[in-house]
Amino acid sequence: MAVVTVLAGCGYLIFPVNMPWAHVDAASETSDRSVILDIGHTLAHPGVMSARGVPEFEFNRRLVGVTAGVLKGLSYQTSVVNDDGLIGQLSDRVRDTEGKSLFLSIHHDSVQEQYLSKWKINGISHAYSDRYKGYSVFISHLNPFPAESLRCASAIGKALRVSGFKPSRHHAEAIAGENKAYADESNGVHYYDNLVVLKKAHCPAVLLEAGVIVNRGEEVKLGQTRTQQAIARAIAEGLNSCLDDG
Ligand SMILES: [Zn+2]
Repeated sequence: MAVVTVLAGCGYLIFPVNMPWAHVDAASETSDRSVILDIGHTLAHPGVMSARGVPEFEFNRRLVGVTAGVLKGLSYQTSVVNDDGLIGQLSDRVRDTEGKSLFLSIHHDSVQEQYLSKWKINGISHAYSDRYKGYSVFISHLNPFPAESLRCASAIGKALRVSGFKPSRHHAEAIAGENKAYADESNGVHYYDNLVVLKKAHCPAVLLEAGVIVNRGEEVKLGQTRTQQAIARAIAEGLNSCLDDG
């Protein structure tokens, strides 16, 4: 997740904006539940470049939009941070988190640099790796609500797994930059204590790497509306579960 790949000549491929919101059958009255969805990265610093040169920020923004639609359909109070991609400091993202049920930061993943290879599309070189795919979930011991954070991280990871997604094991690998201890191995939850948004949130906080966009096959799936809807439904099911338990 920490690898930023700079590729000369990569154009921005912007996803279409209009799409139907996913429908979730598990209706529940949850108007007292407030979830903040954080769009990872910014227009100026868009994170990882996908195997086909699409900035991570665009994947994050699209998935947050779909997820917000699903949660609003379930009567969650839902707010989106960094909708315009112009937010400044990381700490600005968590400024209004006091009293919220959960802060959920949405990202898409890469792999460590030694696993990246090059390929060309239309004469433009892009970095890719098909070695890893799948989601990862992160929490911090330093968050003021570590138990609640873990409960929701596990519930989201479990719901993703039940929906057919698989956790990536890349972040547990004993290599430089990784070796992140598991908080809940079966559901793909790791500790990443010093992630600013996790430790500085004033409410339970979780970061989701929804999938590996440098993987050529997974990138295609993550760009599809049905995959985004399935991830969003799993997030909603996870939240229904962990917040019910709370
Ligand atoms: Zn990211």
